[in-house]
Amino acid sequence: MQWSQRTAIVTGASRGIGAAIAQRLAADGFNVVVNYAGSAADPEALIERIRAGGGSARAARADVSNPTAVRAMFDEAEQVFGGIDVLVNNAGIMQLELIADADDALFDRHVAVNLKGVFNGMREAARRLRSGGRIISCSSSVVGLYQATYGVYAATKGAVEALTHVLANEMRGRNITVNAIAPGPTATDLFLEGKPPELIERFKKIAPLERLGTPADIAAVVAFLAGPDGAWINGQVLRANGGSV
Ligand code: NAP
Repeated sequence: MQWSQRTAIVTGASRGIGAAIAQRLAADGFNVVVNYAGSAADPEALIERIRAGGGSARAARADVSNPTAVRAMFDEAEQVFGGIDVLVNNAGIMQLELIADADDALFDRHVAVNLKGVFNGMREAARRLRSGGRIISCSSSVVGLYQATYGVYAATKGAVEALTHVLANEMRGRNITVNAIAPGPTATDLFLEGKPPELIERFKKIAPLERLGTPADIAAVVAFLAGPDGAWINGQVLRANGGSV
């Protein structure tokens, strides 16, 4: 198959890192399914930008925590594009709280989106991806840094890394790689919201490169794993964090 005929589903692609990944994969020649959960305005604007640049993309509203919605998104992508080659499990939420203060709703929301959402995507991808496929999931460098208040979020990301290693083994003989990326602090709503400027400055200093990551930094790593040069990377977690851990 021509590389240009390949199709990628990017979850949580309306904003932030996911939007940068969708834009980059479209520029690299993929048909891109731009998944989102909330308002259609952001994904529609992104799709316009991709199409204006000559790329191919369509939106798919689906709450990743809902297995029926995820299945329907895969069905539609297969019908429209003829098959799926890459899944990027990027959708995620983060609410910070000390473990002592975290309530059940916070815990359940994180598990539903960050863990079950990744599981739902991996299960469909494991059943359907074509030979040469790539499954790439979003962990975080908090698995490694383990700062206070990140407990529930880090637990879901640790679980994503475990699923990644197991699924890589389960794909034996299928010519499908399974990897995770683990960004450090990256300038998106998820990271910036609610943090005073002094705290953001402190985060910038954690990595020897002394800046926040950008969504494009992370998209470049995903593009490597999804593209021809990433073919020999399998069952790995790539930390993309400027050297913070
Ligand atoms: P963001 O700016 O908050 O964007 C989150 C995206 O996820 C949005 O497109 C949102 O869609 C989508 N989403 C949320 N819940 C969803 C659901 N139930 N179903 C489908 N989509 C859903 O976050 P981000 O910073 O780009 O983070 C992307 C990924 O990177 C996450 O997995 C996050 O944990 C990880 N990460 C981020 C950082 C960082 O510093 N930013 C660091 C390490 C790892 P709507 O707009 O439709 O709600």
